Amino acid sequence: MGLVNSLSSFDGNFQPTPYLQAPLGYGFGALEPMIDSMTMEIHYTKHAAAYTKNLNDAAAMELKESKPLVELMRNISSYSSKLRNNGGGHYNHELFWKCMQPAGGSLPDGILKNAINSNFGSYENFKNKLSDAAMTRFGSGWAWLYVDEKKSLQIGSTPNQDNPLMDVSPIKGIPILGLDVWEHAYYLKYQNRRAEYVSNWFNIVNWKEVENNLRVAVK
Ligand code: MN
Repeated sequence: MGLVNSLSSFDGNFQPTPYLQAPLGYGFGALEPMIDSMTMEIHYTKHAAAYTKNLNDAAAMELKESKPLVELMRNISSYSSKLRNNGGGHYNHELFWKCMQPAGGSLPDGILKNAINSNFGSYENFKNKLSDAAMTRFGSGWAWLYVDEKKSLQIGSTPNQDNPLMDVSPIKGIPILGLDVWEHAYYLKYQNRRAEYVSNWFNIVNWKEVENNLRVAVK
């Protein structure tokens, strides 16, 4: 044992700083009835946890030094599909959890409200456009509200676990709100009724968090 330990301190084995799941800021049942407790528990502790673990496994194989997640995303074409899928999966879910809260009937306020009105005309138009992006994403993927290089708000979607930060993405910018439309995000409660899930999800968006994300993105 002593030999193994002394060897491992000299042989240059690199262990990257692990990427970690942040604790949920609310209980698994806190988003009921919009998202049921069992879906949240499986989604967070199984699906998202697996992305984080597999990202760390891929990083240990492929990286020579620890890198910020955003830097990985921006150069994702340099890495394996394992790192792309799981790095995106980790990033996307961490944003997703933070952008939700128990239903409070709140609406966008402050600079977010102003930006939504100036880019989309009204909250209703914005909601329709983001819902449309979620509904027209064929198969698994995400719908996004993101800030483009001109610091304008944009709406779009990406397949699988891609996101607008990735150099491989046809839509590019900084995501400030993401909607998971993989079936694992809604199937237990909604089955094939993605539209109902999408419509209900707007009631549990943490608009204050999205506003904070916008403030950071336009700096
Ligand atoms: Mn998911």
